[in-house]
Amino acid sequence: MADLVKGKLAIVTGGGRGIGRAICQKLAEQGASVLVVDINQESAQETVNLLQKGHHYAYHCDVSKRDDLEKLKAFSLEKFNGKSLDILVNNAGITKDSLLMKMTDEQFDDVINVNLKAVYIITQLFAKLAIDQQRPMSIVNISSIVGKTGNLGQTNYSASKAGIIGFTKSAAKELARYNIRVNAVLPGFIKTPMTAKIPEKVISKFVERIPLGRMGDPEDIANAVNFLCSDLSSYMTGAQVEVTGGLDM
Ligand code: NDP
Repeated sequence: MADLVKGKLAIVTGGGRGIGRAICQKLAEQGASVLVVDINQESAQETVNLLQKGHHYAYHCDVSKRDDLEKLKAFSLEKFNGKSLDILVNNAGITKDSLLMKMTDEQFDDVINVNLKAVYIITQLFAKLAIDQQRPMSIVNISSIVGKTGNLGQTNYSASKAGIIGFTKSAAKELARYNIRVNAVLPGFIKTPMTAKIPEKVISKFVERIPLGRMGDPEDIANAVNFLCSDLSSYMTGAQVEVTGGLDM
């Protein structure tokens, strides 16, 4: 199926590498114009250089800072001719793992601020724009299967990802009347720079628990996101879509 998001205007956060980059590539391939947001300017630009068709832009900011996101909104309005977004993908995320007994307040707060608070701020800013312009919008928040299951050493991360699920459902209820859909994707264990730091031994143990017998590729997540951004999912909101190869069913 081609051009599922033809002519749509999209922002993807954390688009400089990994899952975010694959999402940008898929949306661009399917006809969207993509504004790639990342804390790393160079990697955001590298993603833009990989995108085909349409007009695409790189933007450097820290999504956990409201000031940065206000400036992103102004940049988006300038590049997209004053129009609100059709698609917002909240993908940027970090880990700062530690066992609970050793967790510092800084590790906890940093992860909550980037993974969860940023989703609240950016959604608030861009949903307001769509409501003011009476334009529909699809918002996809990247959570994680550990938001449902928990994981050793990840109280901060799994709390942030569980928070995204609750946020998604509440926002979906509030925004449905404006034709703004909000859904969450829960990836399992995906091959990206984030998981590249995990020792090989731990990876094989994990893979044993995956019924489909392999780690996911970033494109597996991008395909689900593309579907949720397209009109094929027009009757879906508040959903949590697991893309895990069956891990932790
Ligand atoms: P990566 O670490 O590979 O990529 C994350 C991207 O987000 C990086 O480019 C990073 O930039 C950027 N980023 C980090 N902090 C900020 C910030 N404050 N503002 C803007 N950009 C930022 O992660 P993945 O691709 O693996 O993960 C993407 C999403 O998917 C995350 O939300 C993650 O939690 C989630 N996920 C991933 C899974 C996996 O197995 N990989 C499983 C389940 C969920 P920089 O590199 O410069 O820090």
